Amino acid sequence: MADLGLLTKKALQTRIAILKMIYQAKGGHIGGAFSCTDILVTLYYAVMRIDPHNPRWEGRDRFVLSKGHSVEGLYAILADLGFFPKEELDSYRGFHSRLIGHPTNRVPGIEVNTGALGHGLSVGVGMALAGKMDGKDYKVYVLMGDGELAEGSVWEAAMAGSHYKLDNLIGIVDRNRLQIGGSTEDVMALEDLRAKWQAFGWEVLECGGHDFQNLVETFGKIPAVSGKPHVVIANTVKGKGVSFMEHQAGWHHRVPNEEEYAQALQELEHMMGAV
Ligand SMILES: [Mg+2]
Repeated sequence: MADLGLLTKKALQTRIAILKMIYQAKGGHIGGAFSCTDILVTLYYAVMRIDPHNPRWEGRDRFVLSKGHSVEGLYAILADLGFFPKEELDSYRGFHSRLIGHPTNRVPGIEVNTGALGHGLSVGVGMALAGKMDGKDYKVYVLMGDGELAEGSVWEAAMAGSHYKLDNLIGIVDRNRLQIGGSTEDVMALEDLRAKWQAFGWEVLECGGHDFQNLVETFGKIPAVSGKPHVVIANTVKGKGVSFMEHQAGWHHRVPNEEEYAQALQELEHMMGAV
């Protein structure tokens, strides 16, 4: 079993790094970065097979951040694991920095450029299909936003994933129920989301997206069924971890002012002191 205490600590450390990066750069997507932090921490510290000293190792599990705008947590984790120096996080969104506002594969540990929403799952289908054709046993994880599921290309990829029986492909939906314009159910209703994925031939698992035990156990079950792609619907809270940012669509890409920054940092550091 994974060390849940370690995951809790890494998640707080990651949220603090996200907050600092966004405040310093005066730009970023804090709400969505916080909602997927615990998913990323679980994957990188407890689930995926990776080697920070050999980012292009052929046997590695692949990760695609399809909701590319929420990149800050990914940078913080890759730096913490040693894919690139931690000091580089200070250059986030700076002139000539490779740590730009959306992922690019110039950054060690990042497979593919993303950010134009709706493309990540198709890329994941290709990677998973290549793995099958080459007889490799790696897995491919693709993290999508729930607002992103309004993109039709997601569902083309969903069809292809089940057509090619890609049981090495795992989609994850960061189900925070909000997108830039408000509630997903008001903007473009997703429910019944489980039934939709099932209809496309996917095995659906659901879990608490901030519950490490639940996350670790859920990923540990995959593949639950052979010959089918899997999707994990992770129920999350946009802005998770900072009281006044939680459940607020307005924090999709707002930058905290000095006072908000100080309060957010205090809340996160207080929690850090308790673990
Ligand atoms: Mg969302």
